[in-house]
Amino acid sequence: MWQVIGQTKAVNSLKRSFAEGRLSHAYLLVGPQHVGKMTLAINLSQVLNCLSDDKPCGQCQSCRRIASGNHPDVQVIERAGVGAIRESPPQKEIGIEQIREMQHSVNLKPYEGNCRVIIIDGAEFMSEEAANALLKTLEEPPDSTVFILLAGDENSILPTILSRCQRLELPPVPVQTVRQALVEQWKVTPERADLLARLSYGCIGWAISAIDNENMLEEHSRHLESLIALASSDISERFEFASQLAAQFNKNRASVREWLELWLTWWRDLLLMKNGCAEFITNIDREGALQQQAGRYSLSAIYGMTKSVQETMRQLDQNANPRLALEVLMLNEF
Ligand SMILES: [Zn+2]
Repeated sequence: MWQVIGQTKAVNSLKRSFAEGRLSHAYLLVGPQHVGKMTLAINLSQVLNCLSDDKPCGQCQSCRRIASGNHPDVQVIERAGVGAIRESPPQKEIGIEQIREMQHSVNLKPYEGNCRVIIIDGAEFMSEEAANALLKTLEEPPDSTVFILLAGDENSILPTILSRCQRLELPPVPVQTVRQALVEQWKVTPERADLLARLSYGCIGWAISAIDNENMLEEHSRHLESLIALASSDISERFEFASQLAAQFNKNRASVREWLELWLTWWRDLLLMKNGCAEFITNIDREGALQQQAGRYSLSAIYGMTKSVQETMRQLDQNANPRLALEVLMLNEF
């Protein structure tokens, strides 16, 4: 059974290719953090190595070992420190040594499965050397090996690597689908499922992690408070905030992107409130504050601020000076 939730298009495409015996030797799964890229990569690894007829069965020894990260033929390459607690940011890059080590292992036959699978999580973080080394392997792909690259931002990946991978996009899942999965599969109460589903913004992995981790909701709430407070801060306080975010950006880019995405949900919610579509808002636990702020802004001011936040995200992606970009954002009238 395919376990990834809501990614019907990608799953159907893989099922079809597998049934017709024409799976690609390299895939690129593109989508936001927590959307299900790793789950899909694990499922595909199981399909390729499952011992039952109905693949992936999820029950056989091979499927179970892959799910628990203990199959010798399924290897995950990622930046050191990813998945560790927030305070220790992950390494900036996937280094050349990690790719060299992988190249050594793909020259050997799979130990016990049918197929070796190399999952590169955060493919956009490969160093230039690492990417060039991987390219060489993709140019002459070893037998019985499938590469699965996972990326949030494919623009930072070498075009020559992209052209050798079959691309599958994993978009955010509809809120209704997340809500239903939380209630039916994770036995979350409908009310809590509704809140988590909306806050996850269609990235179901976030909602699943938040079920048992109160800290995630608290952190989310604290960040949102700081952003809401900016509306009544003076310019020096706003610049101080920009400077803190810029310092954080230098250590952990993704976390600053999360702040800005969170802020975008706030401005989108204001837009929805203003248009009388309160039932679609993301931050349902802040309906009162949203109602209050919606009265303060004109539609064009909210729209302008949404555009400015998006523009700042774009500039940061293109390596603009983070402090300058964030200070310019704070100069907006809001
Ligand atoms: Zn199986």
